[in-house]
Amino acid sequence: MPFHVMLIPTLGCPSNCNYCWSSEESSPIMSIETVKEVVEWLRTFRNDSVTFTFHGGEPLLAGADFFREALPLLAKGLDGRKMAFAIQTNLWKMTDEIAEIFAEYNIPIGSSLDGPEELNDFQRGKGYYKKTMKGYEIARAHGLTVRFITTFTSHSIKYKEDIFNFYLDKEWTLKLHPALPSLRGDEPEKWALDPEEYGELLVYLLDKYLENVGKIEVMNIDHLCKCVFGGRGTVCTFVDCMGDTFAVGPDGNIYPCYRFVGMPKYVLGNVYDRPGMEDLAQSDAWKLMNRYKEYVDLKCKGCAHINYCRGGCPYNAITPTDEEIRDVDPHCVAYKRIFDEITERVNNEMFGGPSMEMGLFQDPMRPSKPGIMSLMLKKI
Ligand code: SF4
Ligand code: SF4
Repeated sequence: MPFHVMLIPTLGCPSNCNYCWSSEESSPIMSIETVKEVVEWLRTFRNDSVTFTFHGGEPLLAGADFFREALPLLAKGLDGRKMAFAIQTNLWKMTDEIAEIFAEYNIPIGSSLDGPEELNDFQRGKGYYKKTMKGYEIARAHGLTVRFITTFTSHSIKYKEDIFNFYLDKEWTLKLHPALPSLRGDEPEKWALDPEEYGELLVYLLDKYLENVGKIEVMNIDHLCKCVFGGRGTVCTFVDCMGDTFAVGPDGNIYPCYRFVGMPKYVLGNVYDRPGMEDLAQSDAWKLMNRYKEYVDLKCKGCAHINYCRGGCPYNAITPTDEEIRDVDPHCVAYKRIFDEITERVNNEMFGGPSMEMGLFQDPMRPSKPGIMSLMLKKI
C-alpha cells in the first residue's frame, strides 16, 4: 500500500447525519503550527511518496486561509518526493476561494450523497442534498473532480434500485459504504447495514454493473474484482493497513486511521514529539492493531480469500468490543459472499463450469450472466 496520511483539521461538522459520530461545528480546528509539525515529523519518519487526504468531521470548516497556508507548507516542506492530495467533504462550505486553491493543487473531491434527494435528506437531514449540490456546482465550475460515496443503511437498502438508477441517470461513479453501528446514541444498530444484506447488495451491484458496462462505474466492484484477479488487496479494507496509513488529529495526535481520531485509546503518538516508527510501535494502540493482524493469520487461515481480504477492517472488528479481539470484521459474511461469487463466475467464464474444487457441474437451466472477464480486461 502507498503511504497515506489523513489530516483531520477538525472533528466538527455542520451536518447531523443519523448514523455519524462527528461532533458539533464548534469543535477545535488544527492550527498552522500543527501543520508545520506534521511536515517536520514526516521529513524523518518516512521518505517515500505520500498521499494526504483531508478528512473530518468536515474539513472545509477550517476555512480558506487554512488551506491557503497548509497546502504549500506540505508541498514545499516535503519537496522532492511524489505527493498527492485529496479531500473528503460534504461540500456545504465550498466557496469560489477554496475551489480556486484546490484547483491549483489538482485536488480530487470525495463527497457524500445517499441517493435521490428525499432519501438522502431522510438519512442525512433536511436540506443536506441542496447544500451539497450547491458546493458541487462551485467545485465543478473550477474544474474539480467530484465523486460521491453513498452510505447504504438498514433503511436505504430497500431502495437499492432507485439509488443505482440515480447514479446511472446522473452518469456519476457509484462508490458505497455500509453504515456501521454508531458509537453514539441509544440505538447503535438502528441504521447499521446487516452484513448478510451487505453481501447480497454487492452481488446485486455486480449484476447491475455488468448489465450496464460502459454507462456507469461501480468502484467497489472494480476493487473487489481486482482483488481476486491480482491476488492481493487494492483498498485499505483488504490489506494490513497498519504502518502505511496514519491520521493526524487537530491537536497533532497520530492515530492508525481517521476512524479512530478522538479516541484516546488509539493514540500512537504526537507529531510534536517527532516519533519514529519504532516509537509508535511501543504504543498500546499499535500493539493492539498488531495483535489483530496475528489473529487474522490464525482465524482466516483456512479461507480461500485471506491474501486479498486480510480479515477486513480492524476498526470494524475491534471498536465495538472495547478493544477486545473476539472476531474478524463483522462484514466477513459479505466479503465471503462477493469474493465467492466473483471467483465462481470467473471460473465459469474461463472453464465453462463452476470451480473444479467444488465438484459441481454447470446447470444448463441457469441463465448465463454477463462477464467479469470482459469488465476486467477493460479496466486493466
Ligand atoms: S482501519 Fe479500516 S478504514 Fe482505517 S485504514 Fe484500516 S482498513 Fe481502512
Ligand atoms: S472473508 Fe472472512 S474469513 Fe475470509 S479472509 Fe476475509 S474476514 Fe477472513
